[in-house]
Amino acid sequence: NVSVVLFTADLRLHDHPPLRAALDGSRQVVPLFVRDRAVDAAGFAVPNRLAFLADSLRDLDAGLRERGGRLVLRSGDLVDEVCRAAGEADADEVHLAADVSAHARRREERLRAALEAQGVRLHVHDAVTTAVGPGAVVPSSSDHFAVFTPYFRHWSQQRLRTPLRAPGPVRVPDGVGSQELPSRGDLSGLSPALAEGGETRGRRQFASWLRSGIAAYEDRHDDLAGDATSRLSPHLHFGTLSPVELVHRARRAGGPGAEAFVRQLAWRDFHRQVLAARPRAAHADYRTKHDRWRSERTAREDVEAWRAGRTGYPIVDAAMRQLRHEGWMHNRGRLLTASFLAKTLYVDWRIGARHFLDLLVDGDVADNQLNWQWMAGTGTDSRPNRVLNPVTQAKRYDPDGAYVRRWLPELRGVAAPAIHEPWKLPGPDRASLDYPDPIVELSAGLDRFRRAREAR
Ligand code: FAD
Repeated sequence: NVSVVLFTADLRLHDHPPLRAALDGSRQVVPLFVRDRAVDAAGFAVPNRLAFLADSLRDLDAGLRERGGRLVLRSGDLVDEVCRAAGEADADEVHLAADVSAHARRREERLRAALEAQGVRLHVHDAVTTAVGPGAVVPSSSDHFAVFTPYFRHWSQQRLRTPLRAPGPVRVPDGVGSQELPSRGDLSGLSPALAEGGETRGRRQFASWLRSGIAAYEDRHDDLAGDATSRLSPHLHFGTLSPVELVHRARRAGGPGAEAFVRQLAWRDFHRQVLAARPRAAHADYRTKHDRWRSERTAREDVEAWRAGRTGYPIVDAAMRQLRHEGWMHNRGRLLTASFLAKTLYVDWRIGARHFLDLLVDGDVADNQLNWQWMAGTGTDSRPNRVLNPVTQAKRYDPDGAYVRRWLPELRGVAAPAIHEPWKLPGPDRASLDYPDPIVELSAGLDRFRRAREAR
């Protein structure tokens, strides 16, 4: 018999339960990826992520070819394409990893019905794109955890399955047509310093992280200039690395750095179980409502300055320019630029979230939208009114100004701590800088936020 393995956000060969199940049960397997027209239509197919995807599909294909197989690529309506490929291969099973977004779940239901009509069974596998899947830990009084700390307590007690080795030979039936694989060279509009994708690279990066990064993670994860986080987020987003394997191997490495890293991986699962239970949280306020956000129209100049990294607050501008240049931003930068847009400028968080999704190579519906909501005070933060002061944050997390100097050439000659408040420089020094004045005074921004909050 023949099985189709539909790859989605799990573009790897190591620790891949759907592929393992297919190989165990079948003579031949069709490894399939479908570029889903609906995902493109929703604006998710942006150049930075398409480039990482192209790298990852090529690497997956190379790995399959080493095993005697190949990757089959299609594009169009995902359900139609899977059914067609299953028909061409005369398959009797399709294996797929579970996913949480509203789109993915509707798609899975449609797929199940369409395959059944064709006499093909659909098998959906948990804990492929998460370490602990939504539904594996549920509180007694609700359908999901709305607060991270109790969730993490339960999450930590879960027994994870043992990670699977990469497979042996993969035999693909003849007569299943494939499109040519995309290549990042065909794309334009990429961030100049965009990371490269693919499982091979991801595994190398993770091995090096275990050897020389993770031990210092707890102490250094907020050091903006030190850039001492794993940068594994795009690999987790595309599934070129397995979260189950990462948790296992980090735990084996042990120590406070590994513990802190595993805790961050639990945040991914936390957001997935929130989104699975409340799919509308991808675009609507999850818990606390703010109805008076300034819109793109009423705050156009502020939004443009924020996007361009010209707000006059060096730490905010440095982070926004990192985003544009690398398609990635340090977590501390994400927190303070989001706080600045949503709270200091009181602009609708969805405008910021969209801009992030347009550029982030790890841009992810669950992690992006729910982190934005957390920072905007509409999400799961138990202190929804906290505001991050960009000057205090800058002095704490970039004390020497090295991060600002890296991204703002116009401030390269300014020493810390003055670099974080250039408006305070003496007249002639200030006048010599080609750098804008702050677009908003922090206290005025804060007053606006407080007034809006009280009027709610
Ligand atoms: P590390 O610090 O090395 O952490 C390891 C892994 O843990 C990350 O790769 C990531 O998978 C996970 N992780 C860490 N922090 C978080 C978190 N707060 N929420 C969920 N998972 C986390 N992360 C994304 O992957 N995609 C996004 O689109 C995204 N958007 C964000 C938007 C905002 C406003 C904020 C504040 C955070 C966002 N994050 C997002 C979370 C976090 O900033 C990134 O995961 C992290 O910066 C990636 O860098 P790293 O791989 O070096 O992280």
